[in-house]
Amino acid sequence: MKDHEQLPITPIKSGSGVWLEDFEGNRYIDAISSWWVNIFGHSNPRINDALKQQLDTLEHVILAGFTHETVIELSERLVKLTPNTLKRCFYADNGSSAVEVALKMSFHYWYNTGKRNKKRFISLTNSYHGETLGALSVGQVELYKDTYGPLMLDVIAVKSPDCYHREQGESCHDYSIRLFAEMEAALEQYADECCAVIIEPLIQCAGDMRMYDPIYLTMLREACDRHNVHLIADEVAVGFGRTGSLFACEQANISPDFMCLSKGLTGGYLPLSVAMTTDEIYDAFYDDYQNLTAFMHSHSYTGNALGCRAALATLDIFASDNVIDENKKKSVFMRQAVAELEDHPHVAEIRQHGMVLAIEMVKNKQTREAYDWKERRGLAVYQHGLKNSVLLRPLGNVVYFIPPYVINDDEIKLMARAAIEGIHKATSD
Ligand code: PMP
Repeated sequence: MKDHEQLPITPIKSGSGVWLEDFEGNRYIDAISSWWVNIFGHSNPRINDALKQQLDTLEHVILAGFTHETVIELSERLVKLTPNTLKRCFYADNGSSAVEVALKMSFHYWYNTGKRNKKRFISLTNSYHGETLGALSVGQVELYKDTYGPLMLDVIAVKSPDCYHREQGESCHDYSIRLFAEMEAALEQYADECCAVIIEPLIQCAGDMRMYDPIYLTMLREACDRHNVHLIADEVAVGFGRTGSLFACEQANISPDFMCLSKGLTGGYLPLSVAMTTDEIYDAFYDDYQNLTAFMHSHSYTGNALGCRAALATLDIFASDNVIDENKKKSVFMRQAVAELEDHPHVAEIRQHGMVLAIEMVKNKQTREAYDWKERRGLAVYQHGLKNSVLLRPLGNVVYFIPPYVINDDEIKLMARAAIEGIHKATSD
């Protein structure tokens, strides 16, 4: 809050495509898709039109005992698009709530099926799953979590396969396999008391955009099956094409027991989320009322019709435009646009999965000694970006791009130039 004494908040008047415009006529490329939600640009005419029609039909209705056309159509389409065992949709209204749903439903499945010892969860160090108490408990980024330590669930943390830490000459693939031994050991030890492993597939986004290889997910799926533990894929940030495939799990050819989706689900328009799951899990709750097996969880705005319509319009764009293939070209171009940073004395690594690219600024390139967080090097890049028409919002010392997919080559160049010059400036002393 106090920062804003020196750095006034930027009030935005309008948005169009990748551009945001303030009240003084300054324009900014939204290089971070407004916290990773926007995928087809601001004020997208196709999503706008769909929403206007929905407004004149139905804005919202209780989704208990009642339903509506838009949520049915969306559920059917999500079931077709997501990995094959996911057949059921439970709606909420933000990513954290979808994670809460998956955690509670996993616990409750084991409870209903007589495995009452299963009360704990496994997650990776450096992971992030949201801010509500359950979601925060399974996250492992200290900055967000430490203060609330006394309120947290007792979660088992397993070392992340974050490939930034691989040995020199070691591939990300080999490092991910090597680190899997720690997950295997944890499952070996805790499976009997464990409901699920929750992970962010391929990228730990809030954890400084650290990345790992799909092989880890493939091995995890096999191990969870073997140990009778659910796998929850939190695709809130990486879903809807960010990593180069519609869902990150596709790259490992796996189907999780739960998949949490939000952010890009509505194209970045409205707060909606969904926890998807399997028939097997659904069936464990399906019983006579008197047996009290029902999943008692509801949100007022569950399955909101406007949110569902925005989601359908977003899926229509995926269906009619060649988004994933076009993004492949854009991600190559994005990488080339920052290539000169490869030899920068304060850049340790440029990493990328699809449309997510991250640049790690360090004090010492050879030893990878990090800058002290108190120096706030990332803030200097943010300020440089604002002065040069680009909204970058580094995570600590990591500058990253997650742009809307409608970004064009000239806009990519402009975004990259602001980041390159911002990094020069931020690391010049
Ligand atoms: N999971 C992941 C992987 C996320 O990145 C986020 C948000 N950054 C969340 C969950 C929480 O979503 P929300 O902010 O909508 O609650």
